[in-house]
Amino acid sequence: MRRRAHLRLVTSHEAGDPTLTAVLSAEDLAEELGLDPHARVTCGLHRRWLHECVGSPDHVIPVTGHRWCRPCGSPLEVFVDETTARLFCPRCGTGTPDTAANRQVVRACRTSLAASHAHVRAL
Ligand SMILES: [Zn+2]
Ligand SMILES: [Zn+2]
Repeated sequence: MRRRAHLRLVTSHEAGDPTLTAVLSAEDLAEELGLDPHARVTCGLHRRWLHECVGSPDHVIPVTGHRWCRPCGSPLEVFVDETTARLFCPRCGTGTPDTAANRQVVRACRTSLAASHAHVRAL
């Protein structure tokens, strides 16, 4: 029993998902070579699929407008389901503010969802 608990402890989310690990390192390299960090489907900061951590405050970037409602000056909330992500402004409530930056967030989340599901199906 103790042994099992130990095993579970050392098997981190990243180590347990070879697809994630592979895509993470490929995108780390691509980013160094000029890939737009916002186009990534994995997160270089949290080391997860983008859709798993896009709700973190670290993904609100007022300077570029990612997960940000400019008219309200407030962060957008993110709702992720099986196939897509939706952004929602808690202040103005008009749904996804349609900016290039926010469209990019949604697009990257969709790709990351698809990539993680492809891994599950492959098993
Ligand atoms: Zn992240
Ligand atoms: Zn707003």
